[in-house]
Amino acid sequence: GPTIISAGELLVEFVSHRKGCGLEVVSEYSGPYPSGAPAIFIDQAARMGAATGFYGTVGDDGFGRSLVARLREDGVDTSGISTDPDRTTGTAFVSYYEDGSRTFIFHLKDTAAEAISFSAEDLPDGELILHVSAASLGAPKLRNVIVQAVEAVLARGGRISCDPNARPELMRDDAARQALQEIVEQSWCLMPSTSDLGYLFPGLGEAAAIERMLSAKAEIIALKRGAEGATLISQGQRFDIAPHKVEELDPTGAGDGFCGTFVGLLAQGVSLEEAGRRANAAGAIAVTRRGPMEGNSSPEEIDAFLAAENTRA
Ligand code: ADP
Repeated sequence: GPTIISAGELLVEFVSHRKGCGLEVVSEYSGPYPSGAPAIFIDQAARMGAATGFYGTVGDDGFGRSLVARLREDGVDTSGISTDPDRTTGTAFVSYYEDGSRTFIFHLKDTAAEAISFSAEDLPDGELILHVSAASLGAPKLRNVIVQAVEAVLARGGRISCDPNARPELMRDDAARQALQEIVEQSWCLMPSTSDLGYLFPGLGEAAAIERMLSAKAEIIALKRGAEGATLISQGQRFDIAPHKVEELDPTGAGDGFCGTFVGLLAQGVSLEEAGRRANAAGAIAVTRRGPMEGNSSPEEIDAFLAAENTRA
């Protein structure tokens, strides 16, 4: 099957234990956990058995080395990850509130994440799927590299998958919004959450937004509904996938794990419905585990989870 590649920020994340403590200084954080939306995605696609590669930059420090080691252990080709000796690896802090909302502080500017570079010659041979996580588009340097990669992959006849996870704190820029709109129009597979639809297609209802996506290049849409499960749409088929009943501990990374599972399986010829069913399970497993990439799961864990028949019918 095709090789799935992704590019963007590699960072470590610290997670607040105490719900509702906000981002004041407390000693109740755990971490560092490996993170970065495109990295979580590619890790999970690799765990599904797909051929994968990643482009990014880390600092010459323990955070960076452990990020690269983790991706390599999980089967990602890390030869596209470089080390910048003059910068440190990026970090993020996340806090949760009782109402389920969360606050992030990202430290990406001037970190190694921004030293990313890309050349079309770096692309592996053969058929390609490039996954874009919209979270990466907020930072101008990351955005430029990702836009170049999209152009290079399309020029090679490859496909684009996109998680338009438009986090407002990362998308202050009009240029970011513009780049996202253009990538969405070029995408073969789109995996928005319901809240992304409002950002991408203001004023349109869900059905009209889906029509709009299908009228561009999208052949496959996976609509992520959080605790309500997911809906898959392709070529006149529609599957509503019922959610699993789980206790939410740390929702960060569930969307990336969902997308990594879905694209990773589609790339290996798994059917739309089966890939979606497994992605829905992977997303549910992810929210029960603390740490964004720690939520990723193996095919065996997904099998066992599905066998437990814990769906909310
Ligand atoms: P994002 O992080 O992109 O907003 P979601 O929160 O929608 O993504 O989660 C992605 C997928 O993970 C959902 O579509 C669903 O399949 C699964 N999922 C997420 N949260 C839950 C939950 N609380 N219970 C069950 N499944 C969930």
